[in-house]
Amino acid sequence: MTNIDELEHVKCLIIGSGPAGYTAAIYAARADLKPVVYTGIVPGGQLTQTTEVDNFPGYPQGVTGPVLMEDLKAQAERFGTEVRFGYATKVAFSQDKGTHKVQIDGSKWILAETVIIATGATAKWLGLPSEEKYNGFGVSACAVCDGFFFKGQDVAIVGAGDTAAEEATYLAKLCRKVYMLVRRDEFRASKAMVHRVMNTANIEVLYNTETQEIVGNEQGVNGVRVINNRTKEEKVLDVTGFFVAIGHKPNTELFQGILEMDETGYLITKADSTATNIPGIFACGDVQDHVYRQAITAAGTGCMAALEAERYLAAKESGE
Ligand SMILES: Cc1cc2nc3c(=O)[nH]c(=O)nc-3n(C[C@H](O)[C@H](O)[C@H](O)COP(=O)(O)OP(=O)(O)OC[C@H]3O[C@@H](n4cnc5c(N)ncnc54)[C@H](O)[C@@H]3O)c2cc1C
Repeated sequence: MTNIDELEHVKCLIIGSGPAGYTAAIYAARADLKPVVYTGIVPGGQLTQTTEVDNFPGYPQGVTGPVLMEDLKAQAERFGTEVRFGYATKVAFSQDKGTHKVQIDGSKWILAETVIIATGATAKWLGLPSEEKYNGFGVSACAVCDGFFFKGQDVAIVGAGDTAAEEATYLAKLCRKVYMLVRRDEFRASKAMVHRVMNTANIEVLYNTETQEIVGNEQGVNGVRVINNRTKEEKVLDVTGFFVAIGHKPNTELFQGILEMDETGYLITKADSTATNIPGIFACGDVQDHVYRQAITAAGTGCMAALEAERYLAAKESGE
């Protein structure tokens, strides 16, 4: 077994390489914390799975997700961030302002004075082959990100919870018609949200309706084949956009039973802060945000996490 004195010791370990992780790295590196980022299996995070990003400030002509993430990585590296490919597999956090331990790839342990968790969240999908085929070509899991591309067009959205209802009403402002596909004969959303959906003229709710296949051609989606699970009636809705809003899963298995989280698994941070329930452990980005889930908000909380890590270390060094 490795002697603890032989383990690598870092001031700031960042788990995750999406907009939150890289922004935390930019700030931590400029504060001389010499951050080490572990990328996980998706270097660059969720945005590497999309084409156009039109709403990240600073890119007046838009930018593709992979280019944006390469830019953020280069900016973090410019100030001395070490970016490593690796996956955090276990953690042993100190409860009393001591040094934390993080295991990488099931073998190597690293000691860290502060840990910034930026492991993001994963959108849930229906699991249809056609959904995967047209992902990014008419299929999306983010109405706020991609709704604009379907301005004036007809779209469908799947889901029955508050997020689906919220996203349907968002789309209804941009699109000509929104079909809302609800699997059961009722919503799961709150009464207020259902009321909002019902009072939006261009949303048509189809209950007991399941998606069988998303249809399209080389230009992208041009329809969705649905079935009524009661009557077994099938039909094709003429839509060019298909939005999936059946929830997200935060990437927090690693922290279960260790960090405070809500019933879905989102990490709970203190009010107006990225601090978790353990001193020296901070969480930023989608892993702690089920409300906004945008690259810019992830980056914003990444900045907060680095500033808080720096202040935590300064207070610790001065014996506070
Ligand atoms: C298809 C699509 C299109 C989108 N379009 C837009 C858009 O146009 N505009 C916008 O603002 N937002 C968009 N979003 C949302 C945006 O991508 C997210 O809000 C943002 O990426 C969240 O950033 P994050 O850093 O919190 O996490 P993520 O981007 O999810 O990154 C998480 C990182 O953590 C790593 N990780 C996970 N577990 C571990 C582990 N155990 N060890 C080490 N690393 C780990 C992953 O490898 C990944 O690098 C889109 C999302 C999707 C899926």
